[in-house]
Amino acid sequence: MHPMLKPALRRAWRGRNTVQFGVTPAHAVTLGPMDIATGSFLELLDGTRGLPLLREEARALDLSDRHVDILVSRLTQAGLLDDPDAGGPEADALRRRAETLERQRPDAAALSVVHPAPGGGLRRLAARRAMRVQVRGAGRVGAAIAAVLSGSGVGHVEVLDGGRTEPWDVAPGGLPASSVGERRDTAARQLVRRSSAGGPPRTGGTGGVPPSTDPALSLIVVAPRDGLSVYAPDPDDAAPWIASGTPHLYAGVIEATGVVGPLVLPGGTGCAGCLALHRAEADPQWPRMLAQWRSGRRTCVQACDLGLATAVAGLAASHALSFLDGELPACTGARWEAAMPLLDWRSERLGPHPDCACGAAGHTEVELTSAAGAAQDTMAG
Ligand SMILES: [Zn+2]
Repeated sequence: MHPMLKPALRRAWRGRNTVQFGVTPAHAVTLGPMDIATGSFLELLDGTRGLPLLREEARALDLSDRHVDILVSRLTQAGLLDDPDAGGPEADALRRRAETLERQRPDAAALSVVHPAPGGGLRRLAARRAMRVQVRGAGRVGAAIAAVLSGSGVGHVEVLDGGRTEPWDVAPGGLPASSVGERRDTAARQLVRRSSAGGPPRTGGTGGVPPSTDPALSLIVVAPRDGLSVYAPDPDDAAPWIASGTPHLYAGVIEATGVVGPLVLPGGTGCAGCLALHRAEADPQWPRMLAQWRSGRRTCVQACDLGLATAVAGLAASHALSFLDGELPACTGARWEAAMPLLDWRSERLGPHPDCACGAAGHTEVELTSAAGAAQDTMAG
């Protein structure tokens, strides 16, 4: 072990003998009492020294071996220590791809803050490489989500859409102007490849995935160009994902409202069918209007504010990554919405409906948590 204080967390003395690691309340930790000598010793925890050398240099500061051991143990328990060699074989494989890791250093640093164990952040980052995500839709929102997932280290990102790129599909972070007139799926595939932090996954060897055996889908992101299919998702479209137990996340823009969620864990959280049933209960006229909206011919270009679309894509990608990393992000069974011009993000829980065939009604949060953990274990294995 070569203990290293997580560089992502800024350090400051909070009064005479307490040190605070981290700025924001979400991840900040305070440790004390801490004397000046121990404070100086912290400077040595930069990942270049093993424990024997640390003990030796501590003696020069009049700190005993036991003091060093207790301090290192406390720092580890507080989630403040990283180790440049920890994280398992996938993390080691990522370290050997120096150029990829260089590009992903900020992502690795962010994950190190979230995952307390030494090497935990890099382990999660490396595990993304074996994961497969399908993005359905290559408009302003869908293409940008696919690009962000690819750039964040997800090894297999596929994009499904039809037709050819229109001028209004073009977006910074999404499809480029040069792709106008090209097939959308081809343009999106190129975008994914260009955005990848390390090029396409290697085949064979340690950590590689042979081309003939694509890993199972970890997640589907439903980001159609038609925002109505996100705001009022069609239960029939989702039926195969419910049947196969595939987690899916909705994201899009309708009129001047951005929508992220719900993330549906089939049989665990409310699905498109649950949502439709709740809506019809709350507003008996809703199904009638929905039928009209769906059947209406849409020849005009749909409203989609570029800033809002980019925000939706970023938030959705971030929630997707959190789920892939083994967490249950705030869009699990809930939907985040922001409407122009105030763009005040608000969430609404979308609970299971007892009459829905998905069977989510009656499940508990504890079961969901263990389901997400199991998904991470399988995917990382
Ligand atoms: Zn349902």
